[in-house]
Amino acid sequence: MTCSISSLQAQAQNKIVRLLGLQQAEARIEVQALLRSILNASNAWLIAHSKDMIEPEKLSGFEVLLERRLKGEPVAYIVGFREFYGMDFRVSGDVLIPRPETELLVDLALDRIPENGNFRVLDLGTGSGIIAISVARQRKNALVTAAEKSSRALSVAKMNGKGIENIRFVESDWFDALCGEKYDLILSNPPYIPEEDRHLEDLKHEPALALTSGKDGLDAIRKIIEEAPAHLEPGGWLLFEHGYDQGEICRKLLSKSFHEVYSWKDLSGIERVSGGRLTSR
Ligand code: GLN
Repeated sequence: MTCSISSLQAQAQNKIVRLLGLQQAEARIEVQALLRSILNASNAWLIAHSKDMIEPEKLSGFEVLLERRLKGEPVAYIVGFREFYGMDFRVSGDVLIPRPETELLVDLALDRIPENGNFRVLDLGTGSGIIAISVARQRKNALVTAAEKSSRALSVAKMNGKGIENIRFVESDWFDALCGEKYDLILSNPPYIPEEDRHLEDLKHEPALALTSGKDGLDAIRKIIEEAPAHLEPGGWLLFEHGYDQGEICRKLLSKSFHEVYSWKDLSGIERVSGGRLTSR
């Protein structure tokens, strides 16, 4: 059986909507990603060639990927990459899939890094490296350290950071391997979902290490807030991502050691990043 690229897209899109309950627009993006990886093509190519017939072996390749998707595997893991802050990042089951709301953390970081002069940035629990690498690409003068406990995740981050000169990768359980080091800015998207949270069922393909942190989800955040002051220069900032209902408790925890404590909302209007600043001297 053969069919055109556009009719294959329409059929696959409908299946995803029907069986996984996605919106049409999301399903379209997913189908495009699967097709692009099979055809090794850009979105522009897909549009220009929508009336072309798809070759039988490409068609069966596509059907294998679609089947995996319909069984629940996330598209980012099937195709092996996800776009974040304008760049494609490699991802595997060892790292969290990049979320668009994490771009807020990168924006807030860039607001605080001058375009000139030395500036030391630390990204704790870098995973696939999205935060550290996006910052390093936008601020060539900054020296970025990307720390990660999982060696498997760290090798994904290193692959993503290839060719970027102002970044270094360190295997470290939070601050453990960074003894005596100081930074102007510390960033993190730590695990923050409570251990028994019912949302975890939807995230079962992603590594638990990157998702959950103790009974209330705040173990990692408490540790970071506690230990960050010893690793920050006077006037330095700590900024981290957290769960939809954790803004208030995070501000409370921060205000013990930091001033200028704030939370920032993501595009859905949810408090998503909190942070504070050390006093200048
Ligand atoms: N933002 C992710 C989610 O709720 C969780 C990521 C994290 O724990 N850092 O789906």
